Amino acid sequence: MYNNANELKLLCREQGKRISDVAIEIEAMENEITVEEVRAKFEKFIDIMNVACHKTLNKAIPSISGLTSGDAKKLNDYIEKKQNLCSDHALKGVAFALSCFEVNTSMGRIVAAPTAGSCGIVPACIFVVADKINANKDAVIDAFATASAVGSIIEKNATLSGAEGGCQAECGSASAMAAAAVVEMRGGTIDQSFHAASMTLKNVMGQVCDPIAGLVEVPCAKRNAIGVVNALLCVDLALAGIKSFVPFDEVVAAMYEVGKSLPCELRETGLGGLAGTPTGIAIRKKIFGK
Ligand code: SF4
Repeated sequence: MYNNANELKLLCREQGKRISDVAIEIEAMENEITVEEVRAKFEKFIDIMNVACHKTLNKAIPSISGLTSGDAKKLNDYIEKKQNLCSDHALKGVAFALSCFEVNTSMGRIVAAPTAGSCGIVPACIFVVADKINANKDAVIDAFATASAVGSIIEKNATLSGAEGGCQAECGSASAMAAAAVVEMRGGTIDQSFHAASMTLKNVMGQVCDPIAGLVEVPCAKRNAIGVVNALLCVDLALAGIKSFVPFDEVVAAMYEVGKSLPCELRETGLGGLAGTPTGIAIRKKIFGK
């Protein structure tokens, strides 16, 4: 059992295991099932996420409110024109995240990872890197297990909820989960996984939760987009040997403190930030009336 990153790192070192190994074994122990059954459960969720990450790449589907639709297809078409400045892989990851998000806003089937509002980031990062390195099914399951371990540490010591801690807690946590997972996938060390997760979360420290009209659509889709790029950037930083000065457990504690100090207008109430702009208010009135 572990309560924070330090304890998890110690467990991994004592047992000579990766984060994913420990995460899967503990999941099996806590639920009194076998490791194989845990892996089968992951596989079921991964299949759902895989469908969602590809569903709107070539065909837009309307969102319930009409606010977000068609952006995954637009980006996918743009990548095919080969005029992009960011790498193909980073942008393909963003397209996956937008697709997953658009499935969510059209009331389709997604997996909250860790929440519905941030559902695109973790699967997009893992799938796009799996494509790049031809990772097999087991490696993908391991990556999701590592992501879940990092998410559970944040949940135990802070929050994953935008209503409690702002968007840093939702999309920031998703990016941290994805970054740690991808470092492991790329053969990085446990310390590098946590350096990547720390840097990712630090990059969005203070990010507010300000959904227009209180709907998890705008700016949420684009926060998923930047969440993918943030995670992949921090993976590269960590694999290049760049370290976070502040260790992960302290970053999580700081994120929680910052989140708690945000006014309620900036914690998913749909009142402040972008939701409180003239455009945000006009959209809310158009959808809900006065
Ligand atoms: S802005 Fe708020 S509702 Fe939207 S993704 Fe971020 S935390 Fe979730």
